[in-house]
Parts: sequence; structure tokens; C-alpha cells
Amino acid sequence: MVRLARIARGAPFAILALFVLLSSSCQRRPVAVARSPVSVRRVVDTRVTFGFPDRVASAELTLEGDSDVVEVDVGVAESRAALDERSTTIERVAGVPPTGAKVALAFTIADVEDRNAHVFRRRLSIELDEATAREERPRVDIDYRFVEQPSHHDGAHKGFAAGRTSTWPYFCGNVFPCQPSPDADATFHLRVTGGGSAIATDLSTPIPPYAAAFAIGGFHREWLGVTHAGTTIDLFRLGTGDEVFRDLASVVPAFAWMETHVGPWSFGANVGPVLAPDTGGMEHVPFWHVGDDRVGDSTVAVHEAIHGWFGNGVRLRCFEDFVLSEGTTEYLTVRVLRELGDPAGDGEWAADLDELDAAMARDDLEKRAWRPETCGVFDVGRHYSVIPYVKGALFYTALERRIGFPRLVVALREFYVAHSLHAASMREMIDALAEAAPEIDVESCATAWLRADTLPSERACADKVATHSSP
Ligand SMILES: [Zn+2]
Repeated sequence: MVRLARIARGAPFAILALFVLLSSSCQRRPVAVARSPVSVRRVVDTRVTFGFPDRVASAELTLEGDSDVVEVDVGVAESRAALDERSTTIERVAGVPPTGAKVALAFTIADVEDRNAHVFRRRLSIELDEATAREERPRVDIDYRFVEQPSHHDGAHKGFAAGRTSTWPYFCGNVFPCQPSPDADATFHLRVTGGGSAIATDLSTPIPPYAAAFAIGGFHREWLGVTHAGTTIDLFRLGTGDEVFRDLASVVPAFAWMETHVGPWSFGANVGPVLAPDTGGMEHVPFWHVGDDRVGDSTVAVHEAIHGWFGNGVRLRCFEDFVLSEGTTEYLTVRVLRELGDPAGDGEWAADLDELDAAMARDDLEKRAWRPETCGVFDVGRHYSVIPYVKGALFYTALERRIGFPRLVVALREFYVAHSLHAASMREMIDALAEAAPEIDVESCATAWLRADTLPSERACADKVATHSSP
């Protein structure tokens, strides 16, 4: 994701007013717990067909696990009032028993205040009947009607009106019934009918729930190029024009550089940027969103593409590891553009350092880039800022100064290959870097750059100091 300061500097954090799901039979309970205390079935595959303009949707959730209960978010907002403001309706919940006949399952809907994330969730709890629960991978079908889904994060507040979904970091429940954890080992198949030429996620490889998306409207597909590995990169845009081709010229060689030096792309042979209105940039796969006002800046399209390796290819263990996604991606964005001779890399880096200075001078921002003390507690949405991006990139830059770019790239490649299509933590990345650079005190370097409230005075990682154990 591209931090939004550059397109809406100083903009107030967007008000959450998102579409929610209600049922005439729902039981509204005054619940105020953050996490489900009981084990629930894991959603491993989500297939949804969205119908426009009627705004009806059918979701098929495939489940794994032992519990008789599955719980999914079906609405998320920053306040209960915002949650109540927009009503959507669950039309039907059903499971598929061995006979194949669809049966209704018992379900309730409750509002849950998630104190960790400081949001209210509308949570659908479904109790599987005996026949459905006996299935190895039971399926639950949920038909619902959705309403307007304003964007929560970028200040545009247009949502579907702007022709795209916006669900980062944990707002997927506003688009489809979901379990929003970033490490979820789940696949998403989204389809849109009646929305013009829609661009939607439809993948059999796991991605974080926030990476699944669609954009609707009359998109034209324009060929940008094909990489040596055979990945075809297209541009999707509303309208035509030659200027965009020049501005996005680095996307294909940057993508090819990543395939060659870091590892194979995991999300199909056809990919590309979608020029979407009213967004900065978002790492949706295999078609990442780039603000249609950012086409003069190839860094956005390259940054979102590189998330296919770090953030999506390697998913976050928890949002406390946000720097693993954004710091690694931003470092590589700048460095790959430099390798390609694109001056946009240096321009991006200069802007990064300016924005970091401005962010560090503010009193209201979390200054640490990495929070390994907890997992699943840190509210990345509430504490969002440029700091993890640039402190993370500075950490890699400091390490690069000591061991050189080629050695660092090999270490990143080995990490990517080891964790591709799985969740990993920044802890694991730092351990991998320490192994790759045994002469450097990587741990202290990481602590100084990522875990402190301040910026370190020394801009390089120090040699490891020899220690002597007591006899
Ligand atoms: Zn990003």
C-alpha cells in the first residue's frame, strides 16, 4: 500500500461508515469482547458473486477445522452508530450436507467491540448442523444484499461509487463474510456481474483477506509487456491515452527484476495495475490498484507490484509485523528503480526521508516500526503512518552499506523462497538476515532502526563485537 500522505497530506483519518449486514431474525446482544473465546472453523476458501446494480451477493465459504461453529465479520466500522447507519440484509444461510440438499443452519448476528482494533464488528455466528459438520470440508452459503461501501482509509468516502473495494486492514467484512487476520491461509474467488468490465481477484493461491478486491466500470485492457518468466502485464484503465504508457514504463522491467532476483511470482500468468479513482495504491492481486491521479509516478505501480513478493507472497504473521510488508517493499521499490536507471527511485527516496522527518516530529504517531511484543493486538489502522515504510527501508539500507546489494538480495531471495505462500514475521526476517551476514550485529541494527522511538545517530550497522562466555 502506498501511504496516503502524498495525496491527502494532513487529511483527517477517514470516518468509517460502512455497509453492514442485518437480519430480521438476528439477535442483537450487547457484547463487548474482542476475540472469539472458542475455537471456530477456519474459512479456507471464499467464492462470491456480486451483482450490480441490484447489490445482491452470494458467498460460498469452505471451512476446515473441528468446531461446530464458524464466525465471520459481516460489517466493520469505527463506531456502533456507523455500523448501524447502513443496513444490509442476510437473505439466506445454508450448508451442504452429504446428500447435496441445501439446509438452513442456525445463525445469529451480534455486534462486537474489538478493543484491540478500536472498531465495531457485526459478526455472523453459524452453528453447523450435524450433517454439515461431518463433512471434511463443509461449505456454508450466505446470500446477502449489500449497500454502499464508502472507502474508510483514503478520505475519498466513495467506495463502490468510485468503482472499487477498499478493505485494508481488517474491513473485508464490509464486502464479503470474512475472517480478517492477515495470516489467514485462505483463497478468494470474486466475480462481478452487471458492473461493466470488472477486474476482480480470482486465485487458487492464498492471500491476505485485504488483498482480495474488485473494481467495476468500463475498464480497457492495454498490454504493457511480458517478462522473461512469461508473466503478461496489462494495464486496466477507464479510457485511453499514450501518456500512461511512458509513466508506467518501469513496471515490466521491475517485475521481471523481482522474478529473476527474488523469486517466482505466485499469482498467475496475467497481472497488472488497475488505474482506479480515488485511491493511492493498494497491493491487490493479481491486479493491484493504483490511483488514476498517480500515473505520472511509476513508483506506486512498482511498489504495489513488489507486494506480490512481500506482504502477499509472504503474508504477515500479524499486523505488528507491518514493517515486513511495507519496509521491505519500499526498500526494494527504490533500489530496483535505481538498478533500472529510473530516476523515480531517487525521487521516491528523497520524498520518503522528508516524510519520515515530518512524521517523527509529530506527537500523535507511533514511532516504533516494529512491535514484536504482541501479535494480533496492535491496531495498525489506528496507528498508520509512513514510519514503518521508511524506518524499515533505512534498516535494509544500513545493512546494504555493510554487505552490499547482491548479498542482501540473496538473503531476501532465500527468505522469500522459504516463506512464499505462508505467513512470516519480521523476527524471522531478522534471523535470516543475521544468518546471511554473520559478521554484522544485525540484531542491534534492527533494534536501533525498528524498535526505538527515535532514529539512530549512526546510519550503518556495526560489526558484531566478539563476546567471551564465562568458563
Ligand atoms: Zn505498500
